[in-house]
Amino acid sequence: REPERLAKVLAAAGVASRRASEAIVFEGRVSVNGKVCTVPQTPVDPLKDIIYVDGNSLPKKMATKMYFALNKPKGYICSSVEEGMKPVLSLFDDYFKVWAQRNPGLSRPRMFTVGRLDVATSGLLLVTNDGEFANKVSHPSSGLTKEYIVTVNDKVTRRQLAAIGEGTLVQGVKCVPTLVEPMDMEPGETRQRIKIVVSEGRNHEVRHLVEDAGLQVLALKRVRIGGFRLSRKLGIGKFDELTEAQIAKVL
Ligand code: URA
Repeated sequence: REPERLAKVLAAAGVASRRASEAIVFEGRVSVNGKVCTVPQTPVDPLKDIIYVDGNSLPKKMATKMYFALNKPKGYICSSVEEGMKPVLSLFDDYFKVWAQRNPGLSRPRMFTVGRLDVATSGLLLVTNDGEFANKVSHPSSGLTKEYIVTVNDKVTRRQLAAIGEGTLVQGVKCVPTLVEPMDMEPGETRQRIKIVVSEGRNHEVRHLVEDAGLQVLALKRVRIGGFRLSRKLGIGKFDELTEAQIAKVL
């Protein structure tokens, strides 16, 4: 990591403006690793060097709210504590390393996923450090619909479509999808894709719906949450930071 100039680090930590921070250093009010430092350009590492202003350590400002849309690869888990499994948040490691360098005064944001996708499921996953937003989006009372594309082993029959549409019991609760629609098959294709929209979001809900209708799930991908659709341009394992307009589309 590149060292940063002392006055810049003070300003980034919210001590004062850049100019005023320089003055504070000149006045001999700042110490670095126990020694008074009066040169504002002194290179420091805000994460390693111990910096005091008037005898107080630098305030660690909280990072602002951040929102990402991730195209989750299969094989990644949404929790962080399973032996031998890759957490989706590890996909953000490099991003936040750079972020920390650029924001020396800020404490690293604690990110989490908005709801969960199974390890074998891919597609749209929102990641944020905004707990209130996450709760709103993932709470069943939000009524937000989520759209999935399921790839199944065989051409789906009308009877199977009807069975999916009638819903199934998941953890003792009847879950009925909002929409079930077979997608067109290419000539010669044997696998079929089905669009399924649900609003509940119980554990393994979509898999249950499809399997209980007698089909095998080969792949499952989420493509929409509320009014926000996964961009076709977003590669697998990649993420976009959302604009305010995009965040507003979700809810
Ligand atoms: N339904 C499922 O079965 N799996 C998911 O990951 C999400 C919804």
